Amino acid sequence: MGQEIGWTPGNLWTPDVRIANPPPALLAKYTGKEKSFFYDYAGFVVKVIQDSMVADKLRGILEIEAVQIEKPVDVRVMVFPARPLRGRANRMLHGSYNHSASQISLYPIRLPRDWIRHDGSDMFKLSYQTLTERKKRLLHEISKTAIATLLHELLHVKFERRGLASYVEEPLVRKLESQYMQGWETTLLAALQRASG
Ligand SMILES: [Zn+2]
Repeated sequence: MGQEIGWTPGNLWTPDVRIANPPPALLAKYTGKEKSFFYDYAGFVVKVIQDSMVADKLRGILEIEAVQIEKPVDVRVMVFPARPLRGRANRMLHGSYNHSASQISLYPIRLPRDWIRHDGSDMFKLSYQTLTERKKRLLHEISKTAIATLLHELLHVKFERRGLASYVEEPLVRKLESQYMQGWETTLLAALQRASG
């Protein structure tokens, strides 16, 4: 029997997410400190997504939206940031859904390399209470972006069957994403405290 990965048909949302395997050529572009930072980042995001309160809340939203899947969706947390979007140096890709591969990819947010090397190394290692306010805010942003992006891509899974034009589907998905990302503060704070350190 083949091993089921990711989100499987007929089931409610189960947060079976995995950390992607970066190709050696990509790994070679980063220093040891950076690699360690980004792997800690990916591990943190996996823990937040798998937190039972977060998973329950996502499941509730997907139930309200009646999101159904026909084939397993592989949900992977990318280790390294995506390349900047074409023509928009400041806008980074946070996630993508590849319909034919049935795969969702979540990317880390963009952070200055200098900061990662000098200041960022302890951010995922220390317990939440001992972090500076700035790092607490950053963990919050990282968690919220990861969940919002995951929800966004899962909503694309819902709408793909309708065959809408992307200029119709994208604003619809964004509107639902921002609507459903209200009221996450308590859940997020609890989850990120459990996931850090
Ligand atoms: Zn989208």
